[in-house]
Amino acid sequence: MVLAELGTKISNALQKLNKAVVIDEAALEECLKEIATALLQADVNVKYVAKLRENIRIQFKIQADSGTNLRKLIQTSVVKELTKMLEADRKPFVPKKGKSNIVMFVGLQGSGKTTTCAKYAYYYRKKGWKTALVCADTFRAGAFDQLKQNATKIQVPFYGSYTETDPVQIAEEGVQHFKDERFEIIIVDTSGRHKQEQDLFNEMKQVEAHVKPDEIIFVMDSSIGQACYDQALAFRKAVNVGSVIITKLDGHAKGGGALSAVAATESPIIFIGLGERFDDFESFEAQSFIQRILGMGDIKKLFEVVKDAVNLEDQPKILEDIKSGKFTLRDLQSQFHSILKLGSLNQFMSMIPGLGTSILTKGNEQESITRIKRFLCMLDSMTSDELEGKAMLVQQRMVRIAKGSGTKLREVNDLIEEHKRLAKIVEKMGKMNLGKGNDIMSMTRHPGQMMKKMQNVVDPKMLQQMGGMGNIMNMMKEMGKMEGLGDMMKQFKKK
Ligand code: GDP
Ligand code: MG
Repeated sequence: MVLAELGTKISNALQKLNKAVVIDEAALEECLKEIATALLQADVNVKYVAKLRENIRIQFKIQADSGTNLRKLIQTSVVKELTKMLEADRKPFVPKKGKSNIVMFVGLQGSGKTTTCAKYAYYYRKKGWKTALVCADTFRAGAFDQLKQNATKIQVPFYGSYTETDPVQIAEEGVQHFKDERFEIIIVDTSGRHKQEQDLFNEMKQVEAHVKPDEIIFVMDSSIGQACYDQALAFRKAVNVGSVIITKLDGHAKGGGALSAVAATESPIIFIGLGERFDDFESFEAQSFIQRILGMGDIKKLFEVVKDAVNLEDQPKILEDIKSGKFTLRDLQSQFHSILKLGSLNQFMSMIPGLGTSILTKGNEQESITRIKRFLCMLDSMTSDELEGKAMLVQQRMVRIAKGSGTKLREVNDLIEEHKRLAKIVEKMGKMNLGKGNDIMSMTRHPGQMMKKMQNVVDPKMLQQMGGMGNIMNMMKEMGKMEGLGDMMKQFKKK
């Protein structure tokens, strides 16, 4: 994701503060300048950037003489202001279990509506909701076939017609059909036009009047950047848009512009699209998102992904590894295998604290996958003793591994270094929550206890990478609230 580059730049600017001898106004200004440049390069509106700088300056001035840790103050203010920039005050719609939630999708042609309907359906189906798709696009040739193909791939029932030309009628029939069958999420895909035409708005209004959706989701292509602001307002005026999904954030440099512009219209962004596949789709929450692109990890999201993976029976072993505090090269090998199977590698890796800036996530997704595959070749050339940490990987062995796997010695070195880094993180996290009867759930119930433990074992640098103590506490509290987490942990215990 291009936004990861933005994150790296901001994170680098913040890291410079750690090296600065004194934190004064000059140091602050230098840091702010770098952050502003990065934001402007990501197409964020000059006005918002100026506001962000001003707000951080004010915070700094207020507290400059109060004896607060100014490095930390700047860091927290930056995260806070960035979050504010991407957050709408209005709360998005949340579907209710056991009821028919009708969700209508609107947006221009080519914005990614049909694809996003399928992603949305897949997301809820995986979570156990009874989900269905209705194709009310009679405008675009082949629209029904496209939806049908998608629906079949994700195993979600669908409704549509090759002959009926009235979108209102199909939408109404389809919704009624699935309501009768007590479907919980009924998704209505509508047609788009190339521009914001009156025709399109009239059709949308009619469909809205007849299917009476509980929620209208506006799908928008992020490549138009700041122009998102006007488009989002126009659609909101025409129909009762409740929330927004931004697509194609995988491809270009205007992501920051799109996200901040939409948030400025006070429409909550609920998901983002990061590719053409059905799981290139993430629920969006401003703070999580910012922490992740800044390389601070996102435990909450990690758990969500792991939870979904458990349903897909392909669960990554990482939680067990974390519990045991041990992480051998063989664990890394199985980790790589499950990551490749899980897909969305960068997304997954960036959720693990401290990994956001790892060599594994450098470059684009394809590069990461290629790198992991090469690492797997090297791991395949190792003996059992080497994989299990019973044999030291001395130079001679490393040369043999490079030869055996057709790779370079330097790459073998990279792998070993990466493993060391990971093993250290896993060991620390293991120490953090191990002991009798301790699991991540009980940690969430006793955050105070956990905090003490953590401070004892985790070095300050790593703590900082994880977003500081306060952030971890928040994450833990959030995790405690998360639906289904308890069940998930039980599942892990059984295995
Ligand atoms: P619709 O006309 O609004 O229904 O748009 P479609 O769902 O047909 O999508 C238009 C094109 O955008 C298709 O080629 C999709 O594969 C592609 N697309 C949709 N979402 C994304 C995304 O998040 N990332 C990328 N790279 N492509 C996407
Ligand atoms: Mg479509």
